Amino acid sequence: MMWAADKPREHCGIFGIYGPGLDIARHTYYGLFALQHRGQESAGIAVTNGRRINLHKGMGLVPEVFDSRTLDNLAGLAAIGHVRYSTTGASHPINAQPLVFYYAGGQIGLAHNGNLTNAVELRKQLSSTGAVFQTTTDSEVIINLIARYSQSTLEEALMKCMIDIKGAYSLVMLTEDRVLAVRDPYGFRPLCLGKIGENKFVVASESCALDTIGAQFVRDVEPGEIVILDQNGITSRKGLAHNKRAHCVFEYIYFARADSNLDGFNVNRVRREMGRQLAREYAVKADVVLPVPDSGIPAAKGFAEEAGIPLEEGLMKNRYIGRTFIQPSQEMRDLGVRLKLNPIREVLHGKRIVLVDDSLVRGTTSGKIVRMLRKMGAKEVHLCLSSPPIIRSCYYGIDTSNEKELIASRKSIDKIREFIGADSLNYLSLDGLLNVFGDYRDHFCTACFSGRYPVEPSDARDGKFSLEEGFHDTVGQY
Ligand code: SF4
Repeated sequence: MMWAADKPREHCGIFGIYGPGLDIARHTYYGLFALQHRGQESAGIAVTNGRRINLHKGMGLVPEVFDSRTLDNLAGLAAIGHVRYSTTGASHPINAQPLVFYYAGGQIGLAHNGNLTNAVELRKQLSSTGAVFQTTTDSEVIINLIARYSQSTLEEALMKCMIDIKGAYSLVMLTEDRVLAVRDPYGFRPLCLGKIGENKFVVASESCALDTIGAQFVRDVEPGEIVILDQNGITSRKGLAHNKRAHCVFEYIYFARADSNLDGFNVNRVRREMGRQLAREYAVKADVVLPVPDSGIPAAKGFAEEAGIPLEEGLMKNRYIGRTFIQPSQEMRDLGVRLKLNPIREVLHGKRIVLVDDSLVRGTTSGKIVRMLRKMGAKEVHLCLSSPPIIRSCYYGIDTSNEKELIASRKSIDKIREFIGADSLNYLSLDGLLNVFGDYRDHFCTACFSGRYPVEPSDARDGKFSLEEGFHDTVGQY
């Protein structure tokens, strides 16, 4: 089993830049490289030279899709980029983004992070009135709606479109001479603005992409806001306001890079505080605190500080296992976790261990780690998780797996503990998680933990929804 299959999967990362005089393609390339953790299936860059938009995209990691020659051919004054992991739409070249289309208003490029919750419904409506779709992504629904409102200015068309579409969307769009950024009224997925010189601006899913290209953080894009980056600087338009925010709390638990700041909170600091909170909730008697690298490290540090138990690195991670790594065959399956994590016997032997990880999806990998620690002579293993049990699916752009595969939706905590083989299993409480955000505790989506969905997933069927149903795509060449 792939390691990542036991974690919720990242969705997409988006990037946009308006910067005449800059090496636009390389800035976008490095920005996407910083966002690679948000999607590893495909990557793409669309660049405008002021007259037309050129596009290059393909399957693979950012350095696999682009080489120097390709980037040299993408000269221009503004660009948008995308890294993708498919949450809707098959993993297929035709679904790679940005999508670039002609409509009555000219040429337009779009890159999307998030999932629309009424995409199936809208697609049916649009198809019944003659719309044609080339991809199976929900992002193309947005393009079709914009085309439908093409008598209006692009900003007005976007505002109308925002009334029609429901769910999670952070968007970057490219026209011949400007970049637009849009965030849904709840602000599910992150999006921030930066500056990289006089009248040169950047927009990105996470602030780590701004840091990487030497841009200064300006602010987060507000939920419901439309931002235009062009020769006039940054212009803000109110798209569709809503009085309730619902930022994805899982960005802080696992998805986002620890060095990013999202909506006013530094991810590393939040993770550390989650660990502290966890230690306050569970007074475990132990000799060492052991993080599951890398995502469990900040929470383990917080736990160790609060509990006064030494932190030890007892699991060494092999950082070079990539997407194309040949997975062990059935008879070698016991190697699976050892290839990725190797335990240090000297640290573990005879110890009572608090093992800290961020989340548990199916529980299979955690079970293997616990067995591995016991083999190394660990006396006790207490698994502490810096998130509450994941009991429901996500409809807003995260693959938390089908509800039936979520171990916490099927088993009691004690049964999960038994399955994993730990001496105790401790989840951070939902209240404890939200306390970390102080006065802003009501600004977050917690649906996968609480079942309280901020936007009704109207497309949902059997715990999942699919645009592929009844729709077959064809191979595209890029
Ligand atoms: Fe994030 Fe969970 Fe809400 Fe999805 S359901 S947006 S993963 S908090």
